[in-house]
Amino acid sequence: MRYGPERWLACSHCGGALRFRALLQVDARLAQLWSDGYVDSPSVPEQPLVVACGHCQGSVWLPELADATGSDGVDYRALTEEELWALTRSYGEELSEHQLHLRLKLWQLANHRHRRGESQVVWSDRERRNLERILGLLDLSTATEVMTAVEVSRQLGMFNQALGLLVRVEGELPAALLTQVEQRIQARDPRVFSVRANGEAGHECRR
Ligand SMILES: [Zn+2]
Repeated sequence: MRYGPERWLACSHCGGALRFRALLQVDARLAQLWSDGYVDSPSVPEQPLVVACGHCQGSVWLPELADATGSDGVDYRALTEEELWALTRSYGEELSEHQLHLRLKLWQLANHRHRRGESQVVWSDRERRNLERILGLLDLSTATEVMTAVEVSRQLGMFNQALGLLVRVEGELPAALLTQVEQRIQARDPRVFSVRANGEAGHECRR
């Protein structure tokens, strides 16, 4: 793991300086990719895009902050799940990259309980609405967006829709990934799974 030089970023709410070091290089050997795009890596701390300011606790998007002049800064902190929900509500019906990012993040957080072994997929009302909103926010202009729509549809139990979308990315994404997704659609299995590069599915949680 290699970090860039320390920088100071100015909070967009209070102007306070926040300490920031970009992660430049990571050891990806231990990283595990999941079908919802989440990357599990015990050796690499997550670098979130949106965090809470260490001074005023306001939510800030790190890539959008200007450099700060002072160096009396503090650390930012990760947002809690409830803070992410609250922030999503503040974006209302707005179609934006911010809203999509937050909602994808909440989807991944909801899937954590299955990553930990919970076998039954039961969404709460807000989690289900969140997945439906993601489908509305995706413009399906790239293979990655289509694949996200496939996985959200599959996880909502909309298997026919998932299969219809999956054929649109044939030849554009690794065949091993498409095979693993298709097998689960055919089996009407809505669970998140860890993706294996060689085509074999990873961790399975038993039903
Ligand atoms: Zn602040």
